[in-house]
Amino acid sequence: MRIETSSVHGGRDEFAELGVHAPPVDLSSTYPLTDLAAAAEDFDRMAAGGRPQRGQAIYGRLHNPGVARWEDALARLEGAAGAVAFASGMAAIHAVALALRLRDLEEGRSRDRLVAVRPLYGGTDHLLASGLLGYEVDWAEEDEVAAKIGPRTAAVLVETPANPTLALADLAAIVGQAGGVPVAVDNTFATPVLQNPLALGAAFSIHSATKFLGGHGDVIAGAVAADERWCARLRQARVLAGGLLHPWAAFLLHRSLPTLPLRVERAQETAGELARRFAAHPAVIRVLYPGLPGQDPRGLIGEQMRGPGAVLAVELADAAAAAAVCERLRLATVAVSLGGAETLVQSPAAFTHRLVEEPARARHGIAPGLLRVSAGLEHVEDLWADFARALEDLPAARGRNGSGAGFRAA
Ligand SMILES: *Cc1c(COP(=O)(O)O)cnc(C)c1O
Repeated sequence: MRIETSSVHGGRDEFAELGVHAPPVDLSSTYPLTDLAAAAEDFDRMAAGGRPQRGQAIYGRLHNPGVARWEDALARLEGAAGAVAFASGMAAIHAVALALRLRDLEEGRSRDRLVAVRPLYGGTDHLLASGLLGYEVDWAEEDEVAAKIGPRTAAVLVETPANPTLALADLAAIVGQAGGVPVAVDNTFATPVLQNPLALGAAFSIHSATKFLGGHGDVIAGAVAADERWCARLRQARVLAGGLLHPWAAFLLHRSLPTLPLRVERAQETAGELARRFAAHPAVIRVLYPGLPGQDPRGLIGEQMRGPGAVLAVELADAAAAAAVCERLRLATVAVSLGGAETLVQSPAAFTHRLVEEPARARHGIAPGLLRVSAGLEHVEDLWADFARALEDLPAARGRNGSGAGFRAA
């Protein structure tokens, strides 16, 4: 089935039997133990990362049927055996780290290093750099992954398109470089509509479901799609550490799923048109958007991705120009986050990537004048009128390269 169909029907197999049409919300924190022997069996199963087979959910941290149905729907879109939902995108990333530890405990081995390809979402970068996870991080450019892999490497983490520069990474090549070490891909920007990392050999496809999957700015959520073995460890990590998704959030995510392909496609069209217009504007130094000519020299769009996505970045002369534009916008909302119905604009250097070390920001083109734009579902002409007015009277940018090649790390 095509994604337009599976996004409408995913996770609904039991609905007819349940006699419902909309995703039912089960808010139970605990469940009556109607069959003690069956419950004990299901308890053991869930503690080991399985799902209940004898119909005994037992306790809300172990299992929730509504959450499980959304997980199944997402897994289907990702072409994955399963998916596991978490309280946020960051909780999902944390759970991947815990699942890697669980594998080491099973195998009686210790792998305490991660290879991370920059740029990454600022929160992820900061989590890794903080040392909190107990992993040493080997930061890598895309072509340095093989050189950084060692016997203690637990996994490779990469984001494509990357937040906030929209840099693309060649996932099949990275999987090749990793040589059997699991590759975790943050697929938040692409969504399963545009990219399926598992089909390219990645072990994990991670989502901040807060963004496009939720799509309406009203839910914080995360998820990881993976094979059955990894899903079991991820569920085990969730049972142990408790970073679970609330059933009401799962309802909102399930409700948003049928429109995901439509929303991504329309926002992507708008992003492409905005990118072309920004690139021709004299106040703009450069536009970072993989759909612009020259910005995808390896032809990853069409191969790895089905489109360039709905997020772009626009570099203005300096932080003052970026702030001036933010102050003048009337229609686009100045706010962090992305992937919703409303167009959102923010300065990565000042907000989302504020905690990333300055040399790493400079190296990857996260300039003080950079604005990230997440195209929403408004009419493109209304949006452009807003942006054009906000850019009016800004001095022409020196050294502009508006429609030319994107930023490449020096
Ligand atoms: C927002 C975001 C995250 C973090 O997700 P939360 O839901 O905010 O915890 C991780 N990765 C990317 C690419 C993001 O944009």
